[in-house]
Amino acid sequence: MDRMWAPWRRAYVSGEAPEQGCLFCRLASATDDAENLVLARGRLAFAVLNRYPYTNGHLMVVPVRHAALFSELEPEEGAALMAGVAAAERAFAEAMSCGGVNGGWNVGRCAGAGVEGHLHLHVLPRWPGDVNFLPAVADVKVVSESLESSYRRLLPFFEGVF
Ligand SMILES: [Zn+2]
Repeated sequence: MDRMWAPWRRAYVSGEAPEQGCLFCRLASATDDAENLVLARGRLAFAVLNRYPYTNGHLMVVPVRHAALFSELEPEEGAALMAGVAAAERAFAEAMSCGGVNGGWNVGRCAGAGVEGHLHLHVLPRWPGDVNFLPAVADVKVVSESLESSYRRLLPFFEGVF
């Protein structure tokens, strides 16, 4: 699918040094949460906006530990992930007046995983009519809000979640 919007992707893909290792392990140990669009972090999990969103507010809830599968997680890690999903539900409803939520995860490249080896749950707000004529007819999707704006709107709802 083509996208009409990705103004910051250029800076990301043209950075001086190529990204090394696991993206989510780097985010788990990073310190500049605003720069990295990390909404909340705890001992077991963190939440971060997706830099290549399918919709405004598209975020990911991620275990801190490098684990590929739910079956590798300890129960408290799974509970932390669900706390992040619950926070996303509330944030989408209250900050973005969404009409619904999509969530899911992809394990393995054949399932569509962009980052393999480190489990991450995608959570997306949805609105009535957000599948409009452009994706349906032209295979083009428009994301209307900047990442920084989404980050500022969602951030208060993630305080203390993990
Ligand atoms: Zn990792």
